[in-house]
Amino acid sequence: MEEILKVEKLTKRYEDITVLENVSFSVKKGEVLVIVGPSGCGKSTLLRCINGLEDIQDGKVSIEGKTGMVFQSYELFPHMTVLQNLMLAPLKVQKRDKGEVMKEAEQLLERVGLSSKKNNYPRQLSGGQKQRVAIVRALIMHPEVLLFDEVTAALDPEMVREVLDVILDLATQHKTMLIVTHEMNFARAIADRVIFLEGGSIMEDTTPEEFFDAPRSERAKRFLSTFEYKKKE
Ligand code: ADP
Ligand code: MG
Repeated sequence: MEEILKVEKLTKRYEDITVLENVSFSVKKGEVLVIVGPSGCGKSTLLRCINGLEDIQDGKVSIEGKTGMVFQSYELFPHMTVLQNLMLAPLKVQKRDKGEVMKEAEQLLERVGLSSKKNNYPRQLSGGQKQRVAIVRALIMHPEVLLFDEVTAALDPEMVREVLDVILDLATQHKTMLIVTHEMNFARAIADRVIFLEGGSIMEDTTPEEFFDAPRSERAKRFLSTFEYKKKE
């Protein structure tokens, strides 16, 4: 299958701190890559480098098409309705037709169960609803690759499921996704491949079965022991 994203020997430094060192991997079209690792290991930095939000000091990131990123904090414009938030970039950045964009926004809102909220303002939505709008805002730009950075980390537990279900639905549509998450059952269910990052380097790059049931490195074992998740005995 076609490689859509290739990261080669990526090194990222802030001043004299090396945050990512010699990171290499590639992602095929339709593949779901889950990236896990302890806090501060460089997960967000990696996604930001892929998304072009950071300059890099060494190596190369090649991507076919554009990326769409969804963050922990959804950052919707508070003075705009859901529909206005969704239509802003397609109209202003992509210069698309208003009627076509509105139709797509409505279709996508329906897909994530938010048709009735299109004329509401962000403050009138729950955290889970806002995050689903933020996912739609990324989707409506038609990115080749979607990047999710701990999108459920700031949500109340009862809202986590509704957001994860939207991402699972995207996987059934064969979207190419890189997902940073601490939801290990979800990670296991959705991943085609898992990368375990520690200290800015890839420690494991393997199948979800191997990573979650029989991780090779001691560090991965220790990391996983801090989570409760369904494990094959
Ligand atoms: P993670 O998302 O895995 O928790 P991050 O990618 O946010 O980790 O951060 C990796 C490391 O880079 C951390 O040590 C963090 O303090 C450092 N870092 C992140 N952003 C900056 C920045 N803008 N300037 C300096 N150091 C940073
Ligand atoms: Mg992070």
